[in-house]
Amino acid sequence: MKKRFLCVLLALLLLTGCARTQKPVEFTSFAMDTVMSFTLYGGEEDTGVLRLRIPEELGTLEGLVSAVREDSDVSRINRGAGQAVKVDPATARLLARAWELCEITDGALDITAYPAVKTWGFTTGEYRVPAEGELAELAERIDYTAVKLEGNSVTLPAGMELDLGAVAKGYAGDVLAETARANGLTSALLDLGQSTIMAVGTKPGGKPWRIGIVDPAQPGSYFAVVELTGMAMGTSGGYQRYFERDGEVWWHILDPKTAAPARSGLASVTVVSPSALACDGLSTALFVMGLEAGARFWRDHPELQFDAVFVTEEGEIYRTAGLEGCFSLAEGYEDREVTVLE
Ligand code: ADP
Ligand code: MG
Repeated sequence: MKKRFLCVLLALLLLTGCARTQKPVEFTSFAMDTVMSFTLYGGEEDTGVLRLRIPEELGTLEGLVSAVREDSDVSRINRGAGQAVKVDPATARLLARAWELCEITDGALDITAYPAVKTWGFTTGEYRVPAEGELAELAERIDYTAVKLEGNSVTLPAGMELDLGAVAKGYAGDVLAETARANGLTSALLDLGQSTIMAVGTKPGGKPWRIGIVDPAQPGSYFAVVELTGMAMGTSGGYQRYFERDGEVWWHILDPKTAAPARSGLASVTVVSPSALACDGLSTALFVMGLEAGARFWRDHPELQFDAVFVTEEGEIYRTAGLEGCFSLAEGYEDREVTVLE
């Protein structure tokens, strides 16, 4: 009896030992203007299939939703000038979900900000600060409610342009996670770049993935760690893309009401949710809303199943109560105060 017990114990030790030393398949892919990294654990055949399929699916998605590629669905919609444009079902799905996020955030997220994004130079790197009057005109043209989606047909008035940049990487995370699970993976990390991450299952061995949140005041370090199991995390922050002019900093997240960079007092917002699309879209929207309105939005929308971490421009840290047990301060930040939002 005792011997049998020892055998079982040995077998278990060997098994967990194997899992821990299992080598992942790791690769990167350049898509959506950023470097994405993938870490897949699993059988050789499954990971081998995914090693090919992931870049393929990314290429297909980018070909549909890129605002800079002339032949993408989004570019065709942007040239549509009030005529209905037929799009791929995947584009329609993303558009429908992005539209819902615009609606529920009352336009803090707005997928028609593209003319303003271009005017500031965030698409080309040829930055400039538009004059007040020009901004007022641009703000007039930002209005997601003018986007009409019927089945796979999209209509957009002339003079308006779509930009799915705030949600496309998140959508890609959801699509790729589904592909990974469908291929039998229970352990993978999909890093979609610019702080959008999808954790499939757990680490091999069953422990949660541990993902750092960038310190917006020092983008080389992480101030906190969040433990994720089958969840996504996305951060939006002014530090991710910006330029300086005459001593002032202008970043890539715009307030749709003013067409100018959103100054809400926040330096970054991180969202944790089962959906990477929700993380991506909501982090952008909460950044625009600011701490107070953002916290209210979190309380008012339990159905969205998300939690958030806010960092103010003064460096104060706030997190929502749902992160209890999976949020901790990183090494070197242990003495920072964290206010819990209930
Ligand atoms: P990143 O693309 O760096 O991950 P975000 O997810 O926060 O950052 O998305 C910001 C991008 O979305 C901008 O580069 C711009 O193209 C677009 N954008 C900026 N402000 C808004 C907004 N309020 N609503 C929707 N899209 C926006
Ligand atoms: Mg976003």
